[in-house]
Amino acid sequence: NVRVRFAPSPTGPLHIGGVRTALFNYLFAKKHNGTFVLRIEDTDQNRYVEGAEKYIIDALNWCGIPFDEGIDKNETFGPYRQSERKHLYKKYADDLIASGNAYYAFDTAEALDFHRTDHEAKGKTFIYNWHNRLKLSNSLSLSAEEVKAKLEAGEDYVIRFKSPQDETLHLKDIIRGDIKIDTNILDDKVLFKSDGMPTYHLANIVDDHLMEITHVIRGEEWLPSLALHYQLYKAFGWEAPEFAHLPLILKPTGKGKLSKRDGDKLGFPVFPLEYTSPEGDVSRGYKEDGYFAEAVVNFLAFLGWNPGTEQEIFSLDELVNAFELERVNKSGARFDPDKIKWFNHQYMQEQNNDALAELFKQHQPELADIDVNYVALVVGLIKERATFVSDFWELSHYFFTAPTTYDEKASKKAFKEGTKAVLTQVIELIKPIENFTAETLQNDIKGWITSNNIGFGQVMMPLRLALVGALQGPDVFDIMFMIGKAESISRIEKALS
Ligand code: GLU
Repeated sequence: NVRVRFAPSPTGPLHIGGVRTALFNYLFAKKHNGTFVLRIEDTDQNRYVEGAEKYIIDALNWCGIPFDEGIDKNETFGPYRQSERKHLYKKYADDLIASGNAYYAFDTAEALDFHRTDHEAKGKTFIYNWHNRLKLSNSLSLSAEEVKAKLEAGEDYVIRFKSPQDETLHLKDIIRGDIKIDTNILDDKVLFKSDGMPTYHLANIVDDHLMEITHVIRGEEWLPSLALHYQLYKAFGWEAPEFAHLPLILKPTGKGKLSKRDGDKLGFPVFPLEYTSPEGDVSRGYKEDGYFAEAVVNFLAFLGWNPGTEQEIFSLDELVNAFELERVNKSGARFDPDKIKWFNHQYMQEQNNDALAELFKQHQPELADIDVNYVALVVGLIKERATFVSDFWELSHYFFTAPTTYDEKASKKAFKEGTKAVLTQVIELIKPIENFTAETLQNDIKGWITSNNIGFGQVMMPLRLALVGALQGPDVFDIMFMIGKAESISRIEKALS
C-alpha cells in the first residue's frame, strides 16, 4: 500500500519547486491507489512564518492536488504538525544513545567556531566525527560522571548521530540509481537539542516510519541527507522507504537554481498564489496573474519528467496514468516562463466559451449588462489570440463599443482617395440585406468586389478600420454579423464623416 508524504516547513509561501514536489507525490500516490499525506515540519520555531501553513494548503487545493490525509482530514496517523508531536521524539533519541548510535555533545558555538577557523587556517575542513570527536566535549570524550554532572547542571546539549569510521554505504535512489558514500566524510549530525526539539533529520525519519511512508519523493537538495537517513533507519532497525530525489529547477537561462527572488527580478511569478509577507511585501502568484491551475500543473509535470512521447497537453488524470518515477530525469530542469504561457494559451482554447465569458464579465465592468451568450460568441472569435482572460478586452472591445479613434498608421494605409466612394457603396450594398449573416455578407460583398474589379484590400482594409478602429481582429464579416446591420452602417458612416 503506497503512502507518500509532502513535508514542507512553514517558513514562507510554498514556491513553485515545492508545488512540483507535491505534484509528483500526488501523481505517484494516485497512480498506485495510494495515500498522499501532508505533514507540516515546523520544528524550527525560529523560521516559522504565520500564515504559511494555510498558504500551503490553499495552494495544493487551487492546483487541484489536495492531500488525502493530514490536518483535519483522515487523521489516522496524526497529529500532522511536528510541533504537536514534540513529546514523541526524545524517546527515539534516547534509544539511539542506548544502542550506541548517538551521543551527547556539549560544545559551545564559540568552541565549534574556533575549531572551524583553526582547520580553515590549515587548509582543512572541520568535520565533527571520529576525526575530531575525542578532542571535543561530548559523551565519547568525557567520563560518565562528567556527562552526568553536565546534564544535571542543566548545561545546553545536543544529541549527535555517531557516524561510523571507514564504512562504505550503498544507497539507492529510484531516479539516480545506486550511490556509494564513504562514511569518513559524514558529519555527526545533530538529532536533538536541549530545548526539547528534534532536528529535521530525527523528526523526519521518526515520522516517516510512524506514518508508514513507503516512498520519499523530495527535492535534490535533500540528497546529501540521504546517507544519514539510511543510517538512522538501520540504527533503529526499521525498514527504510524507497527514495526519489527530484532534479533541481534551474533559472530560465539554465544557469543556477531558480530562487524565490528570481520572479520579481525577471518578471514572472514563482509562487502559485499571491503572497503578502508579514512585512507587507506582495509577491505575484500564478492564480492572480490569470493562469489556469490545470495549465500550471501540466507545466510543472514537465519540470524534470516527460512521458517519452510527443504529447504535451495532459489532464490531471492523464498525468496520473502516464507518470512514472523512472522517467524523471537526474539533470536540472530549466524553468521557462514562456512555456507556462504557452500551456495557458493551449488550455484557453479548450475551455468552454460560456465559462470564459463569465470570467470575462467578472474581469471587465463594461460587460456587466451585456448578455452572456453574446460575450461567449465574442470569446469564441478571439480566444485563439489570447493567453489570459485579461487579454480579451484589448482583443474584443469593438464588439461592444464603437471605435472612437482610428489607428493613425492604419488610417494612412487604408483610407485612400476613392475610399469614401467605395465605403458609401458598401453601405448601399448591405442596407437591403435581410438575412444579415457572415455568410451572406461575404457572398454579397466579395461578389460585388469581384464583379467590379476592385482590389480586395481597397474595400476590406477601410471597412475593417471603420468597424474596429485598427487593422486587427477576426474575420470582418463575423464582426459585422456580431454587431449587426444598424451598428455596422453607423460605424462606416462615422468613418466617412
Ligand atoms: N521539511 C523538509 C522540507 O522543507 C522536508 C524534506 C523531506 O521531504 O524530507 O522540504
